Amino acid sequence: MEKRSCYKCQKNKTNGKGRNIYFRYQDMQIRIFKVGGLCVSCAKTEWIENFEKNAQEFVNIFKGKPKVDWRRYHESFAMKHFDNMEERFYDLLLDIRILSHQAEGNWEIVADGPIGLNPRAYMSYLFFTSKQDVIEFACLEYSNTMYGWEIRHIDKVISKKDII
Ligand SMILES: [Zn+2]
Repeated sequence: MEKRSCYKCQKNKTNGKGRNIYFRYQDMQIRIFKVGGLCVSCAKTEWIENFEKNAQEFVNIFKGKPKVDWRRYHESFAMKHFDNMEERFYDLLLDIRILSHQAEGNWEIVADGPIGLNPRAYMSYLFFTSKQDVIEFACLEYSNTMYGWEIRHIDKVISKKDII
């Protein structure tokens, strides 16, 4: 495939294919999807800028393990409420594996109905990877609701295509 210059730096070459890339940031293993026209170096830089702008103040990283300060996020979000702030934040939490697209093995808050109360980002419904996070999040977001809810751990998911 023909190589072209990266649209951002105009310097490094890229083959125009989107793919997952991996790198370390503050000792965390990050996996992100790199769009085709961008070189690896610019994709990393862009992610780090995005993280530092939208998530860093709410995430404490100790020995490569991220810990979200949900209370701080909740209070800050209630005050500022920028456009898309929540979605950008949750999307970054996917990259550091606090949240996941995968249901299996992860956690969900479910209201009577049942209605899923987990975070969403860019049309995706997301799951918590840790029990501690899902409990903290549920207490902050849903402690004053009139309806009941519960937290579930999803043990096994069998998709339609696995069966049919
Ligand atoms: Zn570049």
